[in-house]
Amino acid sequence: MAPAALPHPTPAPSPVPHPEAAATPHPARGGTQVAHGGSARHQADPGRLPDRARNGGFATSSGAAKERGHPAAGRPARHSGPRLAAWLWLALACLLPPWAGAEPAGDIDARLVTVGLQPRKPITTARIQAMRGACRVTLSPLPAASGTEPVLSEEKTCKLAEDEDLSLQVTHRGIMVRTSEGIEFKEGFGKLVVVGDGLFNLEMFNLPPSLLSGRLEVTLQDDNTVSFVNQLSIGELVKAAVSEFSPSPEIEATKAFIVLARTRILAACEQRRHASDTFDLCAGPHCLTFTGYGNNRELVEVLFDQVPNLVMAAGGRVVFPYFQECCGGKISSAKDIFGKDDPVHQAREDRIPGKGSENCFHSPSFYWTREFSQEEMADFLSITFAGGSSRVFLRWDPVKTDAAGRITEVRLYGRRDQKMLGTDFLEAAWDYFGANSLKSMRFTLEPMRRATIFRGMGRGQGVGLCLYGADGLAKKGMKFEEILRFYYTGITLTTNPGGVAAERAPPAPTDGRPKSDPGRNGGKAGKPAKPGKVSR
Ligand SMILES: [Zn+2]
Ligand SMILES: [Zn+2]
Repeated sequence: MAPAALPHPTPAPSPVPHPEAAATPHPARGGTQVAHGGSARHQADPGRLPDRARNGGFATSSGAAKERGHPAAGRPARHSGPRLAAWLWLALACLLPPWAGAEPAGDIDARLVTVGLQPRKPITTARIQAMRGACRVTLSPLPAASGTEPVLSEEKTCKLAEDEDLSLQVTHRGIMVRTSEGIEFKEGFGKLVVVGDGLFNLEMFNLPPSLLSGRLEVTLQDDNTVSFVNQLSIGELVKAAVSEFSPSPEIEATKAFIVLARTRILAACEQRRHASDTFDLCAGPHCLTFTGYGNNRELVEVLFDQVPNLVMAAGGRVVFPYFQECCGGKISSAKDIFGKDDPVHQAREDRIPGKGSENCFHSPSFYWTREFSQEEMADFLSITFAGGSSRVFLRWDPVKTDAAGRITEVRLYGRRDQKMLGTDFLEAAWDYFGANSLKSMRFTLEPMRRATIFRGMGRGQGVGLCLYGADGLAKKGMKFEEILRFYYTGITLTTNPGGVAAERAPPAPTDGRPKSDPGRNGGKAGKPAKPGKVSR
């Protein structure tokens, strides 16, 4: 299993719809297609236009023009008008921060991605309620080859007005639907697509409800359960995720988190972490925890437009950035924790010499203590790791520790011993005990008669940006770029992680307007721009 960055912070806080959430602006959606290829689900919804207004006119980028076969794209300007514009553009570029000059390769925030909501339990019933704006629902027939009777030939549609809802249930005939207005679709369908004008609420039996936007696809599975895939723009996903994981009220820390989340989403898509699934990203910490619209989005909403489309790249690629809630003062390298070479994620102390204590010292997880009884531990080891009766583990020991004091390798003792990565042990503990038990692998053991006391520091796997540390750095006056560079070695901030093609393109705008609006980047004056400095 690939490493995740952060435990589910608390048992998923239920994004129960409340008036505040309903009063927030209409979630923006775009129509640009995700460039990493893959499933048919990437196809842009024909009914939707890219939300250009929200993204400050990035639509005029040469990258975007190229995508659409714009005749002027990729050609030098021929007459004086455009040439003058080019000079104006260059002059303006000198006033922009370094990333602002990069040729935007299309609108990252408007691209659509699909998120597999993957509830842990098999789901056979659910309720969907239109919360803000109406929902259009399309019911598709079962595929003919499914063998489930009866096979229908036509699609059905219905509309849910605000506050109306529908319940769906899987029966031997497929998905059956009933609306709160009393309309029933009993024929049995294979798929249900809900497209919301605003927000809609998904309730699955025994699980906290999720407030969603965009498009939700509910598909009948072979085992007569349903899967849920939400399609939304990267921008929407970033806002939801950051409002969920951020522990900081600081402006610069929040901007850093926005860039971090966007980068992680884009990298997860490009790496095709879910190539064998019907979605791009999972909703868990493996990709980026997503529980729906999110609470307290105000700050994120306001700051989002100050860092549009900005991502971190290194070595010509979008970085997959790891992060953690609290490092306990020392960050480990990806090499030590995951055993893979990754120059961006180096070990470092989370403090600035001469500027007080550790940046994350104010985190409630900086120090923690937890007692585990012998039985409790033995149950965990046997249930989680025993791959059959011959492998029952009763005891474990740390084998290797890195310079930060994190246990990077453990050995389980049983009839046949087994070695494993510390981070896998930690994730298994989160699964078994919950994320509030063993918070990190940075701890010491104090054996008692019947129990062992774990005295630890930090929360998370120990690699990458420390959320509380970033909050601390912002409080110490650091800008978001500095915060990101503090935690990620050798990164470049760019709105164009794209390609060599953009790098070769002349900086001349095609319509005489600058390609980005300086105000969009917080109006910071900076170093000269280097267009398309990231290549692949
Ligand atoms: Zn994933
Ligand atoms: Zn820290």
